Amino acid sequence: MALIVQKYGGTSVGTVDRIQEVARRVAKTAKLGHSVVVVVSAMGKTTDGLVKLAKEISANPNRREMDMLLSTGEQVSIALLSMALQELGQPAISLTGAQVGIVTEAAHTRARILRIDPNRLESQLNSGKVVVVAGFQGIADAGELEITTLGRGGSDTSAVALAAALRADKCEIYTDVPGILTTDPRLVPEAQLMDEITCDEMLELASLGAKVLHPRAVEIAKNYGVPLVVLSSWSDAPGTRVVSPPHSRGRWRAWSSQKRWMRWNLT
Ligand code: ADP
Ligand code: ASP
Ligand code: MG
Repeated sequence: MALIVQKYGGTSVGTVDRIQEVARRVAKTAKLGHSVVVVVSAMGKTTDGLVKLAKEISANPNRREMDMLLSTGEQVSIALLSMALQELGQPAISLTGAQVGIVTEAAHTRARILRIDPNRLESQLNSGKVVVVAGFQGIADAGELEITTLGRGGSDTSAVALAAALRADKCEIYTDVPGILTTDPRLVPEAQLMDEITCDEMLELASLGAKVLHPRAVEIAKNYGVPLVVLSSWSDAPGTRVVSPPHSRGRWRAWSSQKRWMRWNLT
C-alpha cells in the first residue's frame, strides 16, 4: 500500500461543508489501505484577514509577531479536519509544523525548510491514524524555539517537503481549479488544462505570476524527484502531473536509500 501526502488549499477547506467533503475524500483513500498525511491551509481568506488586522495596528508589523499571528489560521483547519475525520470513524491526529519536526531557518515570514524529522509522524501513521499537518509553518531552533512561516502560499511547500522526507509514493495538491492550465483560468476562460508539465516549465509559469504552486514546492519536487500532481478538490479528474527530469528521479532513488534526518541545499 502507498504512502500519500494530500494538500488542500484555503478554498478547499473554506467552510464546514467543505472540510467534511475533504474528510470524506481523505477517509476514502485511507480505507483503501493507504497511509495518508494531509496538509491543510487556513480556511478561505483567513490569512488575508489576519494580515489586515495586523496592518490596522501597525504599518510595518514585527515579523516575528506576524508569524505568531498567521500560523494560527492553519491550526484551526487541522483541528476541524481531524474532528471531521474522527466523526467518520477514521482515526486521525492534528499536528503543528513544530510537532512534526519541520525545522526552518530563523527568517520570519519567509523561512526555508532546513530539515524534517519524520519520527513522530511515522509512528502516528504506523498506529493507523491519518496525520493532519498544519501547512505554511515550521519551527526555527537556532537557540530559542521560534514559530516561523514559509511565505504566502507556503502550504504547498510543506506538503512536498513532507513527501520528500517521508519518501512518499505521491504528493497530491488539491485546489480550486482542475489542475495547471496554460494560463490563469479565472482571467482567461479559454485556458487549456495540461496533463503534464515539467518542474522547469512550472517554475517559469510561477515567475510570470501563476500562484497555483509555491515555487519552493516545485524546486523541492524537482531536486528530489517527488511525484507531484495538482488536481481539483471537487472532482475525480486526474489533474496535472508535475514531472522532474530523469536525472533527479535517480537522485531521489539515491537519496531514498539514505537515512532519516535530511538537510536540503537548494541554493
Ligand atoms: P490554494 O488555496 O488551493 O492553494 P491558490 O489560490 O493558491 O489555491 O492557487 C490556485 C489558483 O491559482 C487558482 O484559483 C487560479 O486562479 C490560480 N492560477 C493562476 N495561474 C494558474 C494556472 N496557470 N493554472 C491553474 N491555476 C492558476
Ligand atoms: N494560509 C497561507 C496563505 O494564505 C498559506 C497557504 O495558503 O498556502 O498564504
Ligand atoms: Mg496556494
